[in-house]
Amino acid sequence: MPTKTLKEICGCIHLHTTFSDGGCDYGTIIDAADDARLDYICVTDHDNLGGRHAGFEGLRDNGVFVLVGYEHNDDKHHNHYLAFGMDEIAYGLTDPKAYVDAIKATGGIGFLAHPAEKRNYIKSLPPYPWTRWDVEGFDGIEVWNQISDWMERLRGWHSLTRLLSPNKKIGDAPPELMERWDALNRQRFVSAIGGVDAHSRKFKWGPFSCVVFPIDVELRGVRMHLFVDEMDWYNASKAGGALISALRDGRGFMSNFSRGDAKGSKIVLIDGNGAVRYPGRCEPDDQSGAAEPSFPMKIKVELTHKAKIVLIHNGKPVQSAKAKSAEWEISEKGVYRIEAYRGTGAWIYSNPFPVGGYPL
Ligand SMILES: [Zn+2]
Ligand SMILES: [Zn+2]
Repeated sequence: MPTKTLKEICGCIHLHTTFSDGGCDYGTIIDAADDARLDYICVTDHDNLGGRHAGFEGLRDNGVFVLVGYEHNDDKHHNHYLAFGMDEIAYGLTDPKAYVDAIKATGGIGFLAHPAEKRNYIKSLPPYPWTRWDVEGFDGIEVWNQISDWMERLRGWHSLTRLLSPNKKIGDAPPELMERWDALNRQRFVSAIGGVDAHSRKFKWGPFSCVVFPIDVELRGVRMHLFVDEMDWYNASKAGGALISALRDGRGFMSNFSRGDAKGSKIVLIDGNGAVRYPGRCEPDDQSGAAEPSFPMKIKVELTHKAKIVLIHNGKPVQSAKAKSAEWEISEKGVYRIEAYRGTGAWIYSNPFPVGGYPL
């Protein structure tokens, strides 16, 4: 009983425009997204949906689909939350529990943004971590944040190499955050996204100033690959809804484009009946999500380039191979996911495959 084949779309999430503190306007970003051959972009300006009100949401003439969400934060500028799918922002709410709940109540979804940020050496750019881990009900976590990672490592003279080739220096997702994400996924499904946090900001070093991360460079780093049904791109609300569901359900994987174009890669689970499952939340009729699933199952990985492929089970690496493809049999319940490394760092993180009923 093979499940239907889904189509891969690839885009960039967490972009800021001139509607908040970004250096580029919508037109520039949409052109850059087309040059970068992206299918979609998700814009998340701070505290406003200005891009939607100005009519930028939907399929643009160049074929790039634009989804407009926004980024909410508390009164100390901590606890940033990326929200999609609501008609209005959660005005005036400064307590993370209140805005996470309000966004859900109005039909939206949300992701904790750069929750593990720690940098503390550029005065004007303090860290904005997530501090309210007591809050439940968020849909997912931005486990990989391109700009936050880059700035974490920006210090001293060796930072000069970061300026010359910023994307080459994107590091791995923070291990303590991955540990937390893995632990949460044993209780309930928590999706992950990789975000750019594009600002195309000007940096100043004494008399010098430059845009270190111009938009065309920013869009060639962390990308989000989603598996979706055939999309009705011309229907903005339908296509936007499908995109939001895929993000909420973690139906895909994230990659760092500068380590290789991962578009075309496949990471699937084949259950005991031969049904093919994509990464992410179990559909109600998925046999693999049943309390007593039938083993053995297989995790099958086919990548576009050779890499070190690692199978993670309940937060621990259990198999690995240096190859373009791998296939591993699994016979235990738990949360499985794939990581792949190329060169000096992480190239791909998949969303998890929960196998068995919760808690896992
Ligand atoms: Zn933020
Ligand atoms: Zn941001």
